[in-house]
Amino acid sequence: MTLKNKKYTSTDTMRFAFEASPVCTVFHTLLPIVQSIMQTAITAIATANFVDTATAILNHTRSYKDIYPALVLVLITLGFVNTIGAASRLAAAKVNVNLQRSLKPAIVKTSAAFDYKHIENETSWELISRVSRDPVKAITDGVDAIIQFSQIIVSIVSVFALIVSQVWWAALIIFSFSVPMFWLSMRAGKKNYQAERDAEKFNRRTEYLGEVLTGREYIDERTLFRYGDAVNRIWQEHYEAGRRLQIKVTAKNFMISKGSSMLLALISLLVALTLIGPVVDSQMTAGMFMGIVSAVFGMIQKLGFQMSRSLENISRAGEYMKDLSEFAVLSKTENALTKPDAVPIPIDSLEFCNVRFCYPNSNEYILDGLSFQLEAGRHYAFVGKNGTGKTTITKLLTGLYTEYEGEIFINGKELRSYPISTIKAMFSIVYQDFAKYFIQLKDNIALGDVHSTGKEAEAAHVAGLDEAIGKLENGLHTPLGKILKGGQDISGGQWQRVAIARSLVSRAPVRILDEPTSALDPISESNLYRDFENLMLGKTTIFVSHRLGSTKLADEILVIDGGKITEHGTHEYLMEKNGQYAEMFEAQREWYQ
Ligand code: ADP
Repeated sequence: MTLKNKKYTSTDTMRFAFEASPVCTVFHTLLPIVQSIMQTAITAIATANFVDTATAILNHTRSYKDIYPALVLVLITLGFVNTIGAASRLAAAKVNVNLQRSLKPAIVKTSAAFDYKHIENETSWELISRVSRDPVKAITDGVDAIIQFSQIIVSIVSVFALIVSQVWWAALIIFSFSVPMFWLSMRAGKKNYQAERDAEKFNRRTEYLGEVLTGREYIDERTLFRYGDAVNRIWQEHYEAGRRLQIKVTAKNFMISKGSSMLLALISLLVALTLIGPVVDSQMTAGMFMGIVSAVFGMIQKLGFQMSRSLENISRAGEYMKDLSEFAVLSKTENALTKPDAVPIPIDSLEFCNVRFCYPNSNEYILDGLSFQLEAGRHYAFVGKNGTGKTTITKLLTGLYTEYEGEIFINGKELRSYPISTIKAMFSIVYQDFAKYFIQLKDNIALGDVHSTGKEAEAAHVAGLDEAIGKLENGLHTPLGKILKGGQDISGGQWQRVAIARSLVSRAPVRILDEPTSALDPISESNLYRDFENLMLGKTTIFVSHRLGSTKLADEILVIDGGKITEHGTHEYLMEKNGQYAEMFEAQREWYQ
């Protein structure tokens, strides 16, 4: 399944279901419609037949045995109605499974290809989250609402058709008073539904606070800050407010639903009154009268609420489909889903030439005439205050943003002219906000190289994880995090080392470490840097940091300020120069002593 660049509407929910499972969607749609006809017109005819036969037997115009076929017809109709309901639910379950298999991957695949700017932009990220949260439920809710709405329409039409077939003028009279009364009752149903949704909002907030009070995720901070009593008070206030609202809603609901039921009962009564005349005049049998009146009673009971609920759900599905249309047209990076090349090209030189860059939706140049040149096999440190654009440099280097001015040359060739799979293979990165995968430690590390080489144990050793592995029950095969059976948690610093190990298994010739020690205290940071000699292993390495613990290891330090390089050279040279770097280093000196 693929998403098209088109304006989707609520009826497209049907199209998605059909594409995922054509036969079951047809069954899931048609069976409830057949069920509606059976429940109303056919049941009415079977009832009429039964009552009329019974009356004829009592009048001695028919034989006693004639009641059996009439009874069997009633039973078959009732049995059929129930069987159809079950068969339709079965088909619906199959549609659901097939949608999980086809729609969800299609959405994941589409979002994986989006230009990086959409991931960083708050509005488009919210859109992506809304669409990806539970697409199958959104689609199946839409399909169910359309089916439910069709069922209601079919019920009404089939009862009317039956009345028209009996006494056409009675149908006309019934139609003239039913429409306005039905409209009134539908409005009441809508209000009823909205009131319930208002109460739901309060319940969600109370539920969230309840989670803060009892959830595992919050336990450390709850114990440390002892905020339990304070949150408990807020929870109680919300609970009370929610409860009062709930009582009000229930009372309002009661009034509205009683009012609406009375209207509907009145319709049934007026239908019965209209049809009595034709029965007395022998235009209609008494059995048919009973069949029609009981069908109207049965149908009308649920109409007001169901009709407004299904319309509301159709419009909600419409909102989702509007989101989906916007989602489908977000710009994508060509070949974004291709894997990195298995054999990366060697990188001899890397050069920024007068690069200027501002983020989309912003006029501020974060990089403003940035130029530098890096050589293979050397170690570099980009330093500067927070927010000076160090991470932005890594985003440009790795091809996440291509709309920059100036040039970036790799081996003398502009970065944008390389295929994306080649760029992906050039760099491995450890980000400051690296991901923690709650899977086996070995798999956690292996994610760094899609062409997996089985070097996880070696990488773990070099990243200094031996001691941590020794304490894990199943060593490298222990699931990390507590969500899996037998899972074990590790410390923040150890997670950071796992992220580093992940970059070590990568065969990329350039390794970037963006604030790699941000989760560590200065002592652990110094220990990690002590091991970095091993980590660098002759590869071109770029440290990005506002902390200067790593800079002594670098062959060259580049200081960034105002979107440019303001100073560069070795640690000794820059300290002697006594400029910006020396000032930063002096300010941080005591952290590292
Ligand atoms: P550093 O790594 O030096 O701390 P960054 O490169 O992360 O700095 O950010 C540089 C500046 O760019 C900051 O002012 C930041 O607010 C801004 N910035 C970062 N990402 C975005 C974005 N996606 N959209 C707009 N501005 C951004």
